[in-house]
Amino acid sequence: MSPFQTVRGMRDFLPKEANMMRYIESKARKIAGLYGYKEIITPVVESYKLLAAKAGEEVRLRMYTFKDLGGRMVALRPEFTPSIARLVATTLKNEPKPFRLFCVGSLYRYDEPQQGRYREFWQSNFELMGTQKPEADAEILMLTGDLMKSVGLKNVFFKVGHVGVLRRIMASEGIDEKMQNSVMQLMDKKQYQDALEVIGKAKASQKCLNTFKRLIKLKSGNFSEVLKKIRGHVKDYEEALNAVENLEEILTLFLDSGCKIGINLEASFARGLEYYTGMVFEAYIPEMDIALGGGGRYDKLIELFGGESTPAVGVAHGLDRIMLAMQKQKVGLELKAEKKVMIIPTKKELKNVALKISHILRKEGITAEVEVMGRKVSKALEDADRRGMDYAVIVGERELKENAVVVRDLKKREQSTIKMENIVNSIRNELI
Ligand code: AMP
Repeated sequence: MSPFQTVRGMRDFLPKEANMMRYIESKARKIAGLYGYKEIITPVVESYKLLAAKAGEEVRLRMYTFKDLGGRMVALRPEFTPSIARLVATTLKNEPKPFRLFCVGSLYRYDEPQQGRYREFWQSNFELMGTQKPEADAEILMLTGDLMKSVGLKNVFFKVGHVGVLRRIMASEGIDEKMQNSVMQLMDKKQYQDALEVIGKAKASQKCLNTFKRLIKLKSGNFSEVLKKIRGHVKDYEEALNAVENLEEILTLFLDSGCKIGINLEASFARGLEYYTGMVFEAYIPEMDIALGGGGRYDKLIELFGGESTPAVGVAHGLDRIMLAMQKQKVGLELKAEKKVMIIPTKKELKNVALKISHILRKEGITAEVEVMGRKVSKALEDADRRGMDYAVIVGERELKENAVVVRDLKKREQSTIKMENIVNSIRNELI
């Protein structure tokens, strides 16, 4: 591998993409503020044990794991949830509930790189902890819808399911949790035949197999009709019926809230991470078949880390994929057009004045770059044009004697001599 190439699966973000990523991040932070989620920052490196504890096999096998110089088994975080669960089980354990926590940052998974799948990727993550109520699940759906809309995406829809339906059927057939996990993982990868084989081998009843087959066949459509069908299929499993009811309540709350997001209900929808216990969902746009974000309810994870029972629901939004989606839908960034100014000294003895003017402009919130290549004025103006600057401040000896400079509007190609004390005002109010 050449040392001048990025490592496979890793990317550089050049200014345009970096700007877009930060824009999406700023929208996520805005949503966090609007919904009352407090930001926390957790480490990229965590104990391997913590990260492996309840991640699905998919994620566990793809962790960047190593021994640090002190001999500790550690890993780069493949997701945020274990770090947050650790905090809630320890430092935050006596804080009043609910917790609304937000974090954003990079994550690492040794996935096979492809469009929208990288080994280093970015997420914004929202967790609502301490309640089992369906309005909490609805809130996570709502804020995800709001984020997708706030970056300008159109026709976003959610694929929704409830792992409780399948898991509770298996539990009532005596299938243990480990076996349930393998079934859920196969369902997640849409390897339905293999999932049915595992259930068969676990000595589940024919009724159970038939129910699974029917649920797998059920495809999305009008959500109340699909719900009715699911209810019919699982009517003999009381616990599973409770899960269906819970899902109905969540979706009704969400749709009644006024968030206009399409719902595709899928009875056989599972997600790779093992810790989900209830509603699960993913966000999509029609132009892409990879999820822009996903999450769900996980009521047992905090206990697993030794905390007290803390039901929770959360979501992770894939910022890289949201960026891809925006590019696919040709969404522009709504950025405030800031005026940019290039300051050009006409001779090297005047660079101190150029720096001084730049300092004054920046203090007033105006973006200012100083010509640092020692170019002649005509070349420097060409360069300023090429860089899309709005104004050039030309610092010349003659004008300086009058305590003035030449300010040139590069778009209109007009210029005036302006007194030092009026530079800010003339640029801000476009008075050239
Ligand atoms: P997960 O933590 O697997 O539930 O993923 C949540 C979201 O993170 C997904 O819906 C994707 O948008 C994003 N994501 C997960 N893995 C990757 C990856 N390898 N590359 C880019 N984005 C990813």
